[in-house]
Amino acid sequence: MTSVVDASAHTSTSPARGLICRACGAEYPLAAQHACYECFGPLEVAYDEAALARVTRAQIEAGPQNIWRYAALLPAGQDPATRVSVDPGMTPLVAAPALAAALNIQAPLYVKDDSQNPTHSFKDRVVSVALTAAKELGFTRFSCASTGNLANSVAAHAARAGVPSIVFIPADLEQGKVITTAVYGGELVAIEGSYDDVNRLCSELVETDEFEDTAFVNVNVRPFYAEGSKTLGYEVAEQLGWRIPAQVVIPMASGELLTKVDKAFSELVEIGLAEAPEGGWTVFGAQSEGCNPIAVALHGDTDVITPVKPTGIAKSLNIGDPSAGPYAIEAVRRTGGWMDYANDDEIRAGIRLLAETTGIFAETAGGTTVAVLKKLVESGRLDPSKETVVYNTGEGLKTLDAVAGQVGPTHTIKPSLRGAREAGLLG
Ligand SMILES: *Cc1c(COP(=O)(O)O)cnc(C)c1O
Ligand SMILES: [Zn+2]
Repeated sequence: MTSVVDASAHTSTSPARGLICRACGAEYPLAAQHACYECFGPLEVAYDEAALARVTRAQIEAGPQNIWRYAALLPAGQDPATRVSVDPGMTPLVAAPALAAALNIQAPLYVKDDSQNPTHSFKDRVVSVALTAAKELGFTRFSCASTGNLANSVAAHAARAGVPSIVFIPADLEQGKVITTAVYGGELVAIEGSYDDVNRLCSELVETDEFEDTAFVNVNVRPFYAEGSKTLGYEVAEQLGWRIPAQVVIPMASGELLTKVDKAFSELVEIGLAEAPEGGWTVFGAQSEGCNPIAVALHGDTDVITPVKPTGIAKSLNIGDPSAGPYAIEAVRRTGGWMDYANDDEIRAGIRLLAETTGIFAETAGGTTVAVLKKLVESGRLDPSKETVVYNTGEGLKTLDAVAGQVGPTHTIKPSLRGAREAGLLG
């Protein structure tokens, strides 16, 4: 939990003023610390509100076409020279009228397609912020516990920066995520256990002398990591012309992404950069049936999460003991939203529906989110007359097996007109 690294290395122009306990409000200086000494609650970055309030739309719009245009709202990376980054962000916000029609949604529907990041998932955002903070704090090796996409991103960032990496994954991960991590070099440790086992081991390793120089993006520098997700809120608002959408549907693993999109919207309104929709925005969360502890807690009207042993094809969302679960529930309740979950067949159907109506091929997490969007419309929880943004957080090419048995050539023919005729292609 503690670090030998000197926090004073942190740049003075960061708007971050410290770390604050989400549970008891205790404050700490900016450092590689993720749990509260008072109550063991999770820490998050606290900002100097006056510094945030000075940020202007013009300043952001003049910035680069990536997440660093929001550097003045982030806890690290104000100095471009210190950035450890593959420069993710400014991914397309795609209008999806055919998907809307298929789901009986009358208002504009958009897909925020974050599969377009350099390693093809939203994780590039959180890793860029975490590793930039890690470098500023003096760490010399990069690591993570991953459900797949994080592994890709940490290994790629380490390769770009020329810093050694050691990445930990569950041994049963999809091939498409093992290869796309291993290719960047660096050490890759497959653990015979679930993601939750991997995460537990990393929490132990981080305390050892041998790992003293190592930043685990989602363990000891987690407060910085989490802030990277805010850029998925900022970007959608900016792409809508500095408006916040009425409804957003977001996949959940730890639940962190959902809480940070909501935080980003709140910040934009507080500092006067974006307008809230009439009646405020509403946040919806998506899980899979094989790993649904946050949604089940909400449905049971509690915020006490009962951990599960994850199963099912949506492996990137398979965190059985989600650390930000209670905060995701809080955000969903406060904004009048809901959470639901989809089974594997529904997830496959969600991948295909999104692909067939938008030309976007999502991984299982995106299929989960579209499947849950469908359920939310059918159950009347999501208002089909209000503008909605659905987040696609990952790329379908990494989880080909999910749909491999379901799609293929519609015809196989001999290379001749006769062959074409016989297959009915000439009427
Ligand atoms: C990690 C991940 C998520 C969820 O992230 P959390 O912040 O842990 O909830 C969603 N989609 C994909 C594709 C991911 O890799
Ligand atoms: Zn505390």
